Amino acid sequence: MSVQRPAWVTVDLEAISSNVARLKDCAPGAQVMAVVKGDAYGHGLVPSARAALKGGATWLGMAQMAEALALRAAGISAPLLTWLHVPGTDFDPAIREGIDLGIPAVWELDEVARAARQIGITARVHLKADTGMGRNGAYGADWDELVTAAVRAEAEGSIRVVGLFTHLACADVPDHPSLPAQEQVFTECVRRAEAAGLKPEVRHMANSAATLTRPSAAWDLVRPGLSIYGLSPAPEVGDAEHFGLRPAMRVEADLTVVKRVPAGQGVSYGHTYVTNQESTLVDVPMGYADGIFRHASGTGPVQIGGQRFTVAGRVCMDQFVVDVGDLEVAAGDRVVLFGSGEGGEPTAQDWADAAGTISYEIVTRMSGRLPRTYLGEECVS
Ligand SMILES: *Cc1c(COP(=O)(O)O)cnc(C)c1O
Repeated sequence: MSVQRPAWVTVDLEAISSNVARLKDCAPGAQVMAVVKGDAYGHGLVPSARAALKGGATWLGMAQMAEALALRAAGISAPLLTWLHVPGTDFDPAIREGIDLGIPAVWELDEVARAARQIGITARVHLKADTGMGRNGAYGADWDELVTAAVRAEAEGSIRVVGLFTHLACADVPDHPSLPAQEQVFTECVRRAEAAGLKPEVRHMANSAATLTRPSAAWDLVRPGLSIYGLSPAPEVGDAEHFGLRPAMRVEADLTVVKRVPAGQGVSYGHTYVTNQESTLVDVPMGYADGIFRHASGTGPVQIGGQRFTVAGRVCMDQFVVDVGDLEVAAGDRVVLFGSGEGGEPTAQDWADAAGTISYEIVTRMSGRLPRTYLGEECVS
């Protein structure tokens, strides 16, 4: 067997399907829109989307239109919502492909309506309210202006308002006062839109944390992202297992060089780690070019030979070193960076803790140069 890549990612698609099924159970009255932005949080857009649909998701959501078009090109016909556009965007392909557009501002509604008129196809839109996130969405009086523009565009047939939505700022802190406040503002936004004559099919606000902990936020559709990949969106509340989720991503490599060194040997750039006794150092062929956080220098956990060790010294571009003491190892032995944790290996959450970030960033940043292998792949659309 010839090896071309020294390190790789394995994604368990059945875990994604079963996580979606679990999230569906949390919101029995709602549909599930699986969020697959950021290349499905690093798991691979098309296979992950198919696995989510297989698990019972009926919608897919993403920030960027290019990802929605890629899903259509792959033959996926489920409803898709894309919500991050800039002025001058070419909306024609999305309208032709029946891709729903999240609209936070009148300028965008006008551009979409103009494109729809020109090609003679009604565009499907979801109006987005900023109910307190302070990010994307129509805020305050801008909401009424957006609703008024939408009512007018719907009357002329250029758009159809399929949905109304908003996004929560603090759903990972279940008793945060902003949660009932945002729900109240959204309820009022929905009331005003419906009173103006809009008849949305789906009203939605819940991300992973809200889907798992806040039934009142479910409305007609929930939009979980991180949790469909089996990671906890609220590690302070509970880990993946607590929420009934199975991590889908596993990251491994084969050791390149193994060597015995005396006490007092400095390791990697800057010699920030020095062996305190005679010891075995192993070289792991992954670094920040693969998405391994340099902030995990000296702290990142790995599993070798069934035992846990920590990154010794600095993470480099393509490699890092681990001091395995007197463990019997050889070049070519396997190192697990993270996985489901079921075999005692670290998890993406452990890497997040080691690097001072969130598990979202750990999995999403695993770079494209790591080949993805899929377990349980099958063709559905
Ligand atoms: C990212 C995102 C989600 C999913 O959030 P998770 O915390 O990953 O579940 C849902 N809706 C919007 C608008 C998003 O940007």
